[in-house]
Amino acid sequence: MLIDCHCHLDLYPEPALVAASLREPCLVLSVTTTPSAWRGTFALGSRVTGVHTGLGLHPQLAEERAGEFALMESLVGAAEFLGEVGLDGSAELRKTRPHQERLFNSILDLATRAGGRVLSIHSRRAAEQVTSRLRAFPDAGTPILHWFSGNLKELRLAIEIGCWFSVGPAMLRSRRGRGLVEQMPRERVLPETDGPFALDVAGRPLHPTNAREVQAGVAELWGESVEVVADRMAKGASAIRTEMHEVGRA
Ligand SMILES: [Zn+2]
Repeated sequence: MLIDCHCHLDLYPEPALVAASLREPCLVLSVTTTPSAWRGTFALGSRVTGVHTGLGLHPQLAEERAGEFALMESLVGAAEFLGEVGLDGSAELRKTRPHQERLFNSILDLATRAGGRVLSIHSRRAAEQVTSRLRAFPDAGTPILHWFSGNLKELRLAIEIGCWFSVGPAMLRSRRGRGLVEQMPRERVLPETDGPFALDVAGRPLHPTNAREVQAGVAELWGESVEVVADRMAKGASAIRTEMHEVGRA
């Protein structure tokens, strides 16, 4: 089964072609970076049952698109999961930090009021702050930290509060990324690509189907067979899918 827990279908040069290449059975969490992109991206994924579209507002756009939070509030009832959301502590975004923090708090509060959501979370250079916010909103839902790049202490904090982790081929290529994956709870690790932003070894954007490489990469790290890892990831994906379906019934 194809599992890609974080990709940007709408941002490929030819989104319809990528969407058309996806087949059941799959679990694809197609994230968006602005609430105004949600409807179109939802339509893009609606042909395949296993494609779910996240309602997101990326931290890099927190200042520029703050006005779209009202739209996010009006769409949350229809959204099975939220993402991409989070915080970005990169130096070039320092001046937007107050905006980012205000927005992330509002989003976690919104998720809580909506009864909880699966959340695909960006935490670059902000892992500790992200976990501290998640701690403050324990009923916001099930956090999946995408492409986690914090340190081991931050990883432990995230594990403690029940975070899941989506890991991609790009992360598995770096020694540091592999070191983090070694310490992650195996039953809470799922594949992702972060395509088209993340690239393959040849510098081409990863396609959601490249997420299949993750099972093999992780199996090697953990000293397990690909079958054992694939089976565990399928179980994890089914747990995440169940949570999203519960939202639909609420
Ligand atoms: Zn992303």
